[in-house]
Amino acid sequence: LPTIATVIGSGTMGPGIAATLARAGATVRLYDISDEAIARAESAYGIVTGVLEAVGSPTVPGGSVSFGTDLDEALAGTGLIIEAVPEKLELKQKVFADIEARVGDDVIIATNTSGIPITTMAESMSHPGRLIGMHWSNPPHLIPMIEIIPGQATDLALVDKLVEIVKAFNYTPVVEKEIPGFVENRVLYAILRECMALLEEGIVTPEGLDACVKWGIGYKLSVVGPTRLLDMAGLDIYQAVSSYLNKELDVSTDTPQFIKDKIAAGQLGFKSGGGMYEYGEGDVDAKRKEIITGLIAARKTLSSIP
Ligand code: NAD
Repeated sequence: LPTIATVIGSGTMGPGIAATLARAGATVRLYDISDEAIARAESAYGIVTGVLEAVGSPTVPGGSVSFGTDLDEALAGTGLIIEAVPEKLELKQKVFADIEARVGDDVIIATNTSGIPITTMAESMSHPGRLIGMHWSNPPHLIPMIEIIPGQATDLALVDKLVEIVKAFNYTPVVEKEIPGFVENRVLYAILRECMALLEEGIVTPEGLDACVKWGIGYKLSVVGPTRLLDMAGLDIYQAVSSYLNKELDVSTDTPQFIKDKIAAGQLGFKSGGGMYEYGEGDVDAKRKEIITGLIAARKTLSSIP
């Protein structure tokens, strides 16, 4: 793990990423352009640290996180930069230019983009070989898996370096070829597409769907993964079912109309007090707590089995 690491952007993802690296012993500088975001990040960092304690994540002495809005300070002596600013190509390219003007040619720049091609982002850089995708899953301090995506110009030695860095903070690196959405979101969105189609057609209630997927799919897949699941089920069984079922599955290419209607009516989910479900006073906070408690318990259990 580099001695000094810099996280650029302290919104939803920044504080959890910074805390994870600091816990593994790095001196982390968390940078944002906005004072307000830095203030929010300082309180988020307290919560994240509490979660890491609850998970029982080991602490390597010497790690720390400092917060600031001075880019020169944030980048001084850094060995790894993780970019986590909003998902806009031009903004990210501007941030890379600002960084490249301040650091040596060998400093790694990793981007937490959810799906903008690394190759496209690197086109504007003076050293495109140093850019690599490093996709953390949200919440980044709880999900110990990171997708590593080299673009066409990425220096291949960087892939091995980043794999070692990720292992150094006890996360599982998954190296992928560049593809829109990367692997995690492609699989998630394939599931979500079918789920939304089932709801739209009134095949099942939201409560029924959640119970079915949580226990029938999530529970099992959290232990074995889809490839091992096929071995468990038998490849012949998969063939027998997929030969008639695959052609029945939803293949729509756009967002379902009922989701668009909800958005138009201001129903966005937790952030608007209602979306797929309705929430009364205090319900959203209670749900959020319930989810974090559940994730902590599940992470502990899953970490204790191979
Ligand atoms: P966010 O909007 O919550 O936070 C982004 C932060 O970047 C804000 O605090 C903003 O003030 C700051 N910022 C804006 N311009 C900046 C600049 N020029 N320099 C420094 N900071 C700047 O975004 P987020 O949800 O944390 O996502 C960040 C990145 O991570 C995006 O690319 C997103 O697609 C990706 N990502 C998000 C999630 C998620 O679930 N939120 C999961 C995986 C990946």
